Amino acid sequence: MHRNLEILLEIQALELTLRELDVDIAALPKHLAIVEGRLQDAQQAVERAKAAEVAGQSERRQVDREIEALRAKVDKIRAHSGDVKTNQEYRALLDEIAFAEAQIAKHEERLLEIMESADALGRQVKEAEGALAAQRAEVAAEAGALKDSTGVKRTEREKLAANRQKLRSQADEMWLRRFDRVLRMRGQALAAIDREACSGCRVRQRPQFLQEMSGDPERLFVCESCGRILYLETDQVPSSQ
Ligand SMILES: [Zn+2]
Repeated sequence: MHRNLEILLEIQALELTLRELDVDIAALPKHLAIVEGRLQDAQQAVERAKAAEVAGQSERRQVDREIEALRAKVDKIRAHSGDVKTNQEYRALLDEIAFAEAQIAKHEERLLEIMESADALGRQVKEAEGALAAQRAEVAAEAGALKDSTGVKRTEREKLAANRQKLRSQADEMWLRRFDRVLRMRGQALAAIDREACSGCRVRQRPQFLQEMSGDPERLFVCESCGRILYLETDQVPSSQ
């Protein structure tokens, strides 16, 4: 095979690998976002548990205030019990005290419930925080691995790009210009002859043309249909020969 073709084939292989590496490297932020997005559920669980705990604490303060107000009311009624003139008034006072005390008892029951559930809510917050911390560590490890592997790919990319530069400096100017133009247009600039056809666009090549190709490896042969630079696989002999 002609040296120019060998060089261009190597450059083309490098171009394909570089393209894949570029796609991988560019995808890092997206991959990191996906990995870090997995924390969302655990974060929300912590927020929900904390909100429930805060709601319990605020209800407890509310109930405490109500009990305090009722007790103050009972004290006030008792303080004024000397002012009553009739038995009827006195009974009404006692009724009022009994009613307030019944309300206090009901609030105290609720207070007990709140205090009992406060323990459970506190445990839930701790559990949710523990789960979040564990998941954070997992995500950090995975993000680190992603960054490391991207770093390796960047190094690999630099090495391959330097190789490409070296190869390009060895290639024939005219061949290289066509190579670049077709690569931009078609993604691949070289195409092997496969069963007498251009493997890039599948258009059959004339027997005369194939014969010329095998007889003149120094010449640049181009597919008239797609513009790709054509080459014969070394182990492949056109049937026209
Ligand atoms: Zn073609």
